[in-house]
Amino acid sequence: MSKSAVKKIQAIRGMNDLLPSDSPRWQFFEAKVRQLMLRYGFNEIRTPIVEQTALFARSIGEVTDIVEKEMYTFDDRNSESLTLRPEGTASCVRAAMEHGLLYNQTQRLWYQGPMFRYERPQKGRYRQFHQIGVETFGFDGPDIDAEVILLSARLWQELGLMEHVTLELNSLGSSEARAAYRDTLVAYFEQHLDILDEDSKRRLTSNPLRILDSKNPAMAEMLDAAPQLMDHLDDESREHFEQLTKMLEAAGIRYVINPRLVRGLDYYCRTVFEWTTTALGSQGTVCAGGRYDGLVEQLGGKPTPAVGFAMGIERLILLLDTLELIPEGALGGCDVYLLPMDDSATTAAITLAEQLRGELPELRLQLHCGGGSFKSRIKKADKSSASIAILLGEDEINQQSATVKFLRDDREQQSVSQAALGHTLRELLTSDA
Ligand code: ATP
Ligand code: MG
Repeated sequence: MSKSAVKKIQAIRGMNDLLPSDSPRWQFFEAKVRQLMLRYGFNEIRTPIVEQTALFARSIGEVTDIVEKEMYTFDDRNSESLTLRPEGTASCVRAAMEHGLLYNQTQRLWYQGPMFRYERPQKGRYRQFHQIGVETFGFDGPDIDAEVILLSARLWQELGLMEHVTLELNSLGSSEARAAYRDTLVAYFEQHLDILDEDSKRRLTSNPLRILDSKNPAMAEMLDAAPQLMDHLDDESREHFEQLTKMLEAAGIRYVINPRLVRGLDYYCRTVFEWTTTALGSQGTVCAGGRYDGLVEQLGGKPTPAVGFAMGIERLILLLDTLELIPEGALGGCDVYLLPMDDSATTAAITLAEQLRGELPELRLQLHCGGGSFKSRIKKADKSSASIAILLGEDEINQQSATVKFLRDDREQQSVSQAALGHTLRELLTSDA
């Protein structure tokens, strides 16, 4: 076969490469999150990407978009049905139970990683995407609901996103209250069968609450007029919700109550919330979560109250990019480009580079590699993002010095002794900033 006839293998549709030009944005965001989790006392948990299919079927619910049509499920060589995780909560619960983390103790966990859903790829919606989430176990009061919402709010504040996102809140009540409401809702929908679309008719018997979630504009008016769960809450759930809203108000967090917010997964009860934005078109939910007190028991554990949320990293990066909120300095690159003026200076340059990296742990120094003429070396320095080039030639080596050249300012180059170079660079780079 001739070379040109070999068909190049491409990535799977909806699964993206993260290129070096973009990875600094992700690192910027991830670093913020990691720091935030430490500040709020959350500990990281990492679970496998693949789980037994039954874990998701049982937790997320058989009649949900995810389980019905979005899972990547396959048989392994031993004919066991496995699934690439579509979300993080089920795995977290499984792992916490399996390792006794829920036994007589509370947990505040966070995770991050790829999730997989077979959806139609479009802007802000992919088949492999990434989430960062938190899950808490063992707290039944509204204080922890407030705490996880405040954690997310602080993230938006610190990223400069607060004025671009809205907190939507609802309560799904207890499962008993929800069951009673379900009958009321079905009775209402049955009076409007002519307006229900096919999906909704199917859900009428299996999962009528999900109909409220529909984005079909033809049903919007009918859905807005539907009986509201908020009016059918049990007393305890109402009290829980009122306390939560008071705590949020005291902390200065604005919210809107969205009576149609039911979330796509079966395991929620009481508090549900979403942070949404209008800046990303129809893919507007950047973070979503709520309380899921029944899930641990449903998966075979002891009844354990739980609250969590997950945010979509792709959508948040897209939002930060759209609003130009990622600072220039966070976008990778280097501060200093160190170049041997010819090949005879290579070894001395390597030694000097290592000396500087040892002295200045924060310094981002790129060493010129790959030879070339002096002119091409300087060109590479110019093309880098460095503001300073350090030149090392025969004279410098003999004098144990280096030439500091300013790449972005019209400023005389200077000769500095190698012993003092670390100190000089620190001064130059911090006075720059
Ligand atoms: P949507 O209504 O947009 O489908 P969802 O209810 O399915 O969202 P969750 O399961 O709650 O989403 O996931 C939490 C977050 O993960 C979402 O708010 C979103 O930011 C992100 N997310 C979900 N699915 C995708 C996807 N296919 N591609 C990129 N991000 C996603
Ligand atoms: Mg979805």
